[in-house]
Amino acid sequence: MNKAIPMQEVKHIALVAHDNRKEDLLEWAHFNRSTLAKHHLYSTSGTGKMLIEKLDLQIMNLLSGPLGGDQQIGARIAEGEIDFMIFFWDPLEPMPHDPDVKALLRIAVLYNIPVANNRATADFLISSPLMNSKYDRKQTNYKNRLGR
Ligand code: PGA
Repeated sequence: MNKAIPMQEVKHIALVAHDNRKEDLLEWAHFNRSTLAKHHLYSTSGTGKMLIEKLDLQIMNLLSGPLGGDQQIGARIAEGEIDFMIFFWDPLEPMPHDPDVKALLRIAVLYNIPVANNRATADFLISSPLMNSKYDRKQTNYKNRLGR
């Protein structure tokens, strides 16, 4: 049977942007600063430093994306700590850590967390009434399918 994982009013949000998308994320986060400040925020190092410096947000800053930061976020999603992700990845540049990016996107789908990979989706997500309420996130029971 599928189970539901409760998400609280206060979300645990990962904010990540590749270098060519950082400006975009900064603008978006600036516009939504007061909303973001109500939640627990996590970032990979470069993204987090930018948001802390420019917007004075409180953020748990992890390793840089190419140095394992994406994997740290993925692990926190798998463990149920992070339940929401804004990840502006660069559609025009191959990255040294493309396998980590793919793994992070996969984990986000697997654990059914809301994910925005561009500004329009981020706008829709952050303006959802569910941002301020509890939400039962359905978790597909893959254990049956995998037989373990
Ligand atoms: P950065 O990493 O925030 O440390 O720049 C982002 C990424 O490449 O995933």
